[in-house]
Amino acid sequence: MPKMKAIAKTKPAPGAEIIEIDIPTPGPDEVLVKVLATSICGTDLHIFEWNKWAQNRFKNLPRVMGHELCGEIIEIGKNVENLKKGDIISAETHIACGHCYLCQTGNAHICVNGSILGVDINGVFAEYAVIPANNAWVLDKRIPKDHASVMEPLGNAVHTVLAGDIAGNSVLITGCGPIGLMSIAVSRICGATQIIATEINAYRIELAKKVGADLVLNPKEEKIVPRVLGETRNLGVDAVLEMSGNPTAIRDAFEALRPGGRYSILGIPDKPMEIDLGKHIVFKYATVQGINGRLMFSTWHQTARFLSSGRLDLAPIITHRFSLDEYEKGMELMASGNCGKILLYP
Ligand SMILES: [Zn+2]
Ligand SMILES: [Zn+2]
Repeated sequence: MPKMKAIAKTKPAPGAEIIEIDIPTPGPDEVLVKVLATSICGTDLHIFEWNKWAQNRFKNLPRVMGHELCGEIIEIGKNVENLKKGDIISAETHIACGHCYLCQTGNAHICVNGSILGVDINGVFAEYAVIPANNAWVLDKRIPKDHASVMEPLGNAVHTVLAGDIAGNSVLITGCGPIGLMSIAVSRICGATQIIATEINAYRIELAKKVGADLVLNPKEEKIVPRVLGETRNLGVDAVLEMSGNPTAIRDAFEALRPGGRYSILGIPDKPMEIDLGKHIVFKYATVQGINGRLMFSTWHQTARFLSSGRLDLAPIITHRFSLDEYEKGMELMASGNCGKILLYP
């Protein structure tokens, strides 16, 4: 059996290891891909650092980490008809069962029997990976391979931005990690007329300005609510896109939302938190929505179109490139916040 290198979680503790394992064999409905590029997601950092969520969720070690990729199909399972060897793909990372109530009603992204690549099954921080054929997204040749690896998190941004009105709207984006930055860029090309972002890391504040935020506020240096109200004629913003998971940022953004506005939440707080339901949601007549994953596959169509049109430029958001062996450097950088998206090359 030929072997490959992979980055795996081998024990229930912080860190990861480079291991040598058999190159996997695709099942009848799967494809084998040679990984051309992969990227580090916040989820990977949680698994690497071994936070509470990872401890509860990440089972059956050793497990190959990573879920974002661009790869070339080198082998196809016997039932696969729509893909061929040589296709360059990205992949949806939520693997849906296809037959539960949610899958049957157009909500496969929240399938009750779903599993996640690189979390529940072996992932893509490896030289080769097996992907369910249904999850492969064949790339338009106009999309650079580097950018294909980040289509999955970009899909989160697209899903959040387009979950309500955006054209002609003022928007507050709380948190400028990679998906926050992407949300700024997507909001801009979708016609948001005023983009205010909040962020505490100096490196990311600069990136946020570069990708199109009109104003970036640092909550460590000034009070967010009066500034946002001041910028919106005392009304508040039409939309909030929450990307930080930070309880103070979340509560401040409710204050800064105009009555009748929409509040879309992608950020995940570490633990349960309090909000003033009456004041911030009921009397405010706010529409609050949780955003999970990407719609399968309408978000992918939108994301691919944004990229192949050339209107959306991810180049400023992809800030670092390392070899897969240097994954620890990437994890450290992610933890520091002094980066946008980090790519790893096997
Ligand atoms: Zn991801
Ligand atoms: Zn399902």
